[in-house]
Amino acid sequence: MENRITDIGPPYYAQFFPPVIKKNYGKWKSHEIIEPGVLKYTSETGDVVYVVRVGTPRLATTDYIREVCEIADKYCDGYVRWTTRNNIEFHVTDEETLRALKEDLKSRKHPGGSYKFPIGGTGAGVTNIVHTQGWVHCHTPAIDASGIVKAVMDDLIDYFESMTLPAQVRIALACCLNMCGAVHCSDIAILGIHRKPPLIEDDRLEYVCEIPLVLASCPTGAIKPATVEIDGKKKKTVRVQESRCMFCGNCYTMCPAMPIADGEGDGVAILVGGKISNRVSAPKFSKLVIPYIPNEPPRWETTVKWVRKILETYAKHARKYERVGEWAERIGWERFFELCEIPFSSKTMDDYRLAYDTYRTSMHFRF
Ligand code: SF4
Ligand code: SF4
Repeated sequence: MENRITDIGPPYYAQFFPPVIKKNYGKWKSHEIIEPGVLKYTSETGDVVYVVRVGTPRLATTDYIREVCEIADKYCDGYVRWTTRNNIEFHVTDEETLRALKEDLKSRKHPGGSYKFPIGGTGAGVTNIVHTQGWVHCHTPAIDASGIVKAVMDDLIDYFESMTLPAQVRIALACCLNMCGAVHCSDIAILGIHRKPPLIEDDRLEYVCEIPLVLASCPTGAIKPATVEIDGKKKKTVRVQESRCMFCGNCYTMCPAMPIADGEGDGVAILVGGKISNRVSAPKFSKLVIPYIPNEPPRWETTVKWVRKILETYAKHARKYERVGEWAERIGWERFFELCEIPFSSKTMDDYRLAYDTYRTSMHFRF
């Protein structure tokens, strides 16, 4: 790119625009959803672009990406767009190509018969899940990410391919409470949680960890330096004040001798009612409604069941255009728990209010 002096950072996005997008940049007059998964953009120049949105499993094989590129070459002059919610968008400029593209996408199936390129994810439906990567690449996950997302979206595929809900429902997943996914502000959020403090491997900690860095990494100041004797030798190590530990795993990020993953303690929490939009009501943080569900690979049946239950209860009771959090606030969170048949406990309904200026979070509930 002109005037660019290094190759650090992402390349300038405009160089990847399809020609019709480049030509009409800033001139779009309207956009509409003409059917689930198909958007129509009309420019003041008279140009029209149809966008077909399909869901992906996010973790894609090279064969899958080759197939996407083959489709893009055939119908879209080689252009294709991945969205932030792990959908793919194919752009075409006439209705005949649109028809042929849709038929082609629908004809591509997995050996089991399911659609390889399901069309949907628009308007008042469930679009693909924003999520992190879990066991695939990170060091602090309490759960897998892609595996749960696959199980949940397999179950909700009808809501992806239709627009029958009161409003859009954004689902997110983060595999630990660092929340690389948008868990704090999604209609329904799946969060991986640790429930035990890190283990401390005294015999190797001083060799693999910078102790001052470990102390500084703890947001609650729970870690203190310590000395222990092993086989008659003094070793520098640390101790964790368990009552202050919130199981965040930050110390493990800095120190591999403080592992936090635990097969029994780790699991899933579900939060509800967040959003980033300011349409109708102000943006909201999600609230904790189910504090713990065990990890259940490979299909996470209990998590899938609760996500569906919350979604269908919302679909049945909410008013048109009402997001999940707006519905729960209108009827009262007490009623939300009753309708969804979620057992209430003292650990639910954390709304982060105290987290603005303390290390604690709150359990705010109106009875
Ligand atoms: Fe890693 Fe946590 Fe982010 Fe998952 S949410 S990718 S475990 S930091
Ligand atoms: Fe501190 Fe988090 Fe480590 Fe607990 S898990 S000791 S809160 S850094």
